Amino acid sequence: MTFSQPIGSREMIRRYKTLNLAEVTVPFVFERAYGSYVYDTTGTAKLDFTSGYGVANTGWMHPQVVQAVSDQLRKATYAPPWLATESALALSEVMLSLAPPGMAACLRATGGAEAAEGAFRAAQLLTGKRTMVSFERAYHGGTGKAVRASDFEAFQLMGSPAYGRRFIKVPFPGASPGPSPDRRLPDASEVLVTIEELFTSNRDISAFVAEPVIGSGGVLVPPDGFLNRLQALCRQHGILFILDEVITGFGRLGEFSAASMFGLSPDAILFAKGMGGGAIPIGCSLLNEALSQAVRRFGDVSPTFAWTPVACAAALANIRVLQAEGLCEKARVDGDTLLAATRQVVDHQLAGYMPVVRGKGMMIGIELTDPESRRPARRLVQKLLLALFHEGLMCCTDWDSRTIILMPPLTLTPHELEEGVHIIEKVSKRFRLQ
Ligand code: PLP
Repeated sequence: MTFSQPIGSREMIRRYKTLNLAEVTVPFVFERAYGSYVYDTTGTAKLDFTSGYGVANTGWMHPQVVQAVSDQLRKATYAPPWLATESALALSEVMLSLAPPGMAACLRATGGAEAAEGAFRAAQLLTGKRTMVSFERAYHGGTGKAVRASDFEAFQLMGSPAYGRRFIKVPFPGASPGPSPDRRLPDASEVLVTIEELFTSNRDISAFVAEPVIGSGGVLVPPDGFLNRLQALCRQHGILFILDEVITGFGRLGEFSAASMFGLSPDAILFAKGMGGGAIPIGCSLLNEALSQAVRRFGDVSPTFAWTPVACAAALANIRVLQAEGLCEKARVDGDTLLAATRQVVDHQLAGYMPVVRGKGMMIGIELTDPESRRPARRLVQKLLLALFHEGLMCCTDWDSRTIILMPPLTLTPHELEEGVHIIEKVSKRFRLQ
């Protein structure tokens, strides 16, 4: 269970006709959101420690983002993909200026999965190879190649392993693995040996796609230097290195991108989620010169609704806010404070569940283990999530309820941070093992 599935009143859930995996009945019918809070139709507020699933990094309804969108709405809401607009031009220039050196062009997208599809297509066009390698517990989107590059078996999305024959998974090394037996994560060197064997034995690999910190799979932080070694290995074997920053980008980890944070120079970087400031869907893949040229040699299949003038206005305003308010640096400092405070509370109150609290910047995971079975404490995680929500704190979990995920807006005030930790403490006390 995660709160990416619809929650609402019993009546609303009954009427909900959108297809989803599961529904949760909670007396809360979402109506509006400002800053760090979401509100229901009766005015009840919940402190949002999800940023709307990593989207409202600059806070819900940031006045400057809203202003930029409403100004643009009066000029042009849409432009066909073949018409250049000033705002798209400005956005591509800003995105490239914020990226590590070597990025040459932006491939437009409306969201994360589309950004992934664009980069994967470019990689195949350039190399003529069709196999992709990615991490277990990774998520790259819900469409064709993106979902196959994701840990689709853990998602229970497709039954046949043959479906993913060209999408090979390798384990993610664990800096602080949870204690449950099915959670043992191999160390960085073991993983690199596995990857090198794969690269040597399989000549059809076009690219390795990596989330720099695994997000919705449970906030897994790589050991120091691991991604740099992985990138070097890719280079050595002529395999493209694609960094999926859909959840980690736009300041979430404490820098604009994880690429600059870890000193990486990937061949492509994917952005979405936080890019539109929670106002408008938008995403992109930044591509190096060779990948850009490969795309140019073939037909343009960029999506009709990608990078509309309104979406570009929102993204530009959002980037200005991130910079003017120093939100990336703030995320680093606040993230350290939140991690330490959460660890203190959880290690004390939930000690019986062998908690592992880990994270980077404003993305923190709390993984809990059942002391008897020594397996992930899924029921407890689900109960905690609902109890936190009832007490006024909205969090989410990884898709199989092993880990509670905290991803507050980067605009969080010190008072809101304290309030969130206080609710975590209050709720954890109730579940304390005697
Ligand atoms: N990549 C990562 C790392 C994600 O976390 C997600 C969504 O959660 C995606 C890609 C897919 O993005 P979207 O849902 O916008 O298609």
